[in-house]
This record gives sequence, C-alpha cells and structure tokens, in this order.
Amino acid sequence: MSPNVNNTTFPNLLDLIAPYACRGCQNVGKVLCERCKNDIITRCQNLCPFCKKPATKCVCQNRLSLPPTFIFSRRSSTIGALVYDLKYRSARSAAKPLAEILSRTIPSSYQNLIVIPLPTIARHIRERGLDHTAIIARQFVGQYKQGSRVSRLLLRTNRATQVGSSRSQRLKQAQTAYAINPKIRISPESTYLLLDDIWTTGASMLSATKILQDSGAKNLILTTLALS
Ligand SMILES: [Zn+2]
Ligand SMILES: [Zn+2]
Repeated sequence: MSPNVNNTTFPNLLDLIAPYACRGCQNVGKVLCERCKNDIITRCQNLCPFCKKPATKCVCQNRLSLPPTFIFSRRSSTIGALVYDLKYRSARSAAKPLAEILSRTIPSSYQNLIVIPLPTIARHIRERGLDHTAIIARQFVGQYKQGSRVSRLLLRTNRATQVGSSRSQRLKQAQTAYAINPKIRISPESTYLLLDDIWTTGASMLSATKILQDSGAKNLILTTLALS
C-alpha cells in the first residue's frame, strides 16, 4: 500500500478554497487564530466522560474511581475539527494549537510530567502517514512546564481496529490491545499523563489505565482532546 494515501481520503472543499482558514471563525491565516484559541481556553470546562456534563455538575459515581481526568471539548467542537484535520488529512499545523490548548487548560501544578501517547495501530500510522497522538504529545511537552517529556511506555499488541466495532467488541479488544514496554522502567514517584485524541466508549483509556496502574504507575492523569 502507498504510505501516503491520506490526502485523497477525505477531500474538503474548505481546504481547496482557503488552505489556512481558521477552524473557529474561517478567517484566513492560521488553522486556529489567536482569538479563537484564547476563546476556547477561556471558556472551556472539564467534562465528565460518562454523563458529558461539566465535571462540576456531574454526580456519576464511576467517575470517582477514575484518576484525575481532563477533557475540555466535544468532538463537534473546533478542537474536534482540528483533531480530524490532523488525523485524517495530515494537517500537521493543527497539532501546535491543540497542544497549546492542552498545555494551558491542564493544571500547571504537575512537575516532571511524563506524557504517554495512547499507541495508534501501526497500520493506521502507515495509511495516514503520521501518528497524530504522538505528534500532539511531542508538541505538548515543548509547551508545558520544563521537565516534561514523552515516553513510549505503552505498546500496541494487536491489530484489531475499533472503528465500526460494537461496544462489547471494543471493550473486549481493548483488554488485550496494550502492554507495557519492557524496556522502560515505571517510576512510582513520577506523574504520568495518558493522552488520547477522542474519548468514545472510554474502553481504550480505561484498559490502558488499568495496565499502567497494575504495573506501578501510581500517579496517573488522563487526558483526551475531545469527547464523542
Ligand atoms: Zn478564528
Ligand atoms: Zn458524570
């Protein structure tokens, strides 16, 4: 298969007319203008992944068993559009504003944060020509506090794809989808940030969380860019 088929997969009229239109206001310039970016950062609220309400209004009991979780947008938002641009249309310039939004919305209190991108299926990386979550993770550590870094602590173990699978299939696949990289030691004192693009059923994040916690990552925080 050609390694770079992504540009022809999802043609978008907007890109043909205005390659650098802001995904928020459509003004020509950047993929996300400063005004729209600041607006997103100012207005965002952390959302509960289960009831999808702002966390301050959520009463979900199962959320209490989660590590601190940060999700500041819905998939239908401008952030969701930028994730789509990066993931399916190879718009690498979308990664920087996404990383900046993350670095300014996640509490700034974490020291020496170790960011673990949830690993993408190898076939998807080949087809898209990029690993979107890894790119966002790299950009994020460049913008968050000094001392943060990316770690490939999690590995992908199977080739099963989640797209189009039923919820029960997804949960089953997710249980065997990830493993700890045997070359990397887990430090119980370190804080780990598990990063993914979209929270759909949560099966992937919850499965990866369990593996990390069972392997000794005590201080864990979860972040996805958007909630489906
Ligand atoms: Zn704008
Ligand atoms: Zn809730």
